[in-house]
Parts: sequence; C-alpha cells; structure tokens
Amino acid sequence: MSSRCEVDSSSMYLFEFNGYFSSFKGLLKLILQNNSIDDYIVAEDLDSENTFIILKDGDIEQLGLLLCDFCGLVCASEEEKYIHQRAHYFI
Ligand SMILES: [Zn+2]
Repeated sequence: MSSRCEVDSSSMYLFEFNGYFSSFKGLLKLILQNNSIDDYIVAEDLDSENTFIILKDGDIEQLGLLLCDFCGLVCASEEEKYIHQRAHYFI
C-alpha cells in the first residue's frame, strides 16, 4: 500500500491511496479518532469525484449543509438528505 500527499495553498490535500475509496474514509476517521479530534467529521465532496472534505462540526450548519445520519454524506438540502437516507433502508 502506498500513499502520497501534496499540499497546496488552499488546505487541499491530494492523496494517492491504493485501496477502496470507502476504506480511505475509514482511515481518515480513524486518524481523527486516534488523535481525539472528535469535532471534525469526514464527508464526501458532492462536487468532485473521489474527494473527501474534513469539516469542523459547527461549520457544517453554517455552510447550510446536512449530513447523512448513516454514512456522513454531505447533502445540500433536507430533501436531498431524505432521498439519500432512504437508500440506506433498502440495503
Ligand atoms: Zn448515507
């Protein structure tokens, strides 16, 4: 397993991760957990593919974003969250 990290001026980190996108999310969560950083959450970026965003808990509401209660996916509206969350019930 290899990973590479690049940092640009806008706090965007580029990782090359040889594994599933979802395992990378688990890894990020674990890193936060292990560092007792519990006021940050890992969410998927809706605009770009294979991109995670790490948000401070309080910032989410400020941005008008909603999180899926099950997987933490970022939803732009109540409706979107509702539709998305329904999918979890059918799995
Ligand atoms: Zn979800």
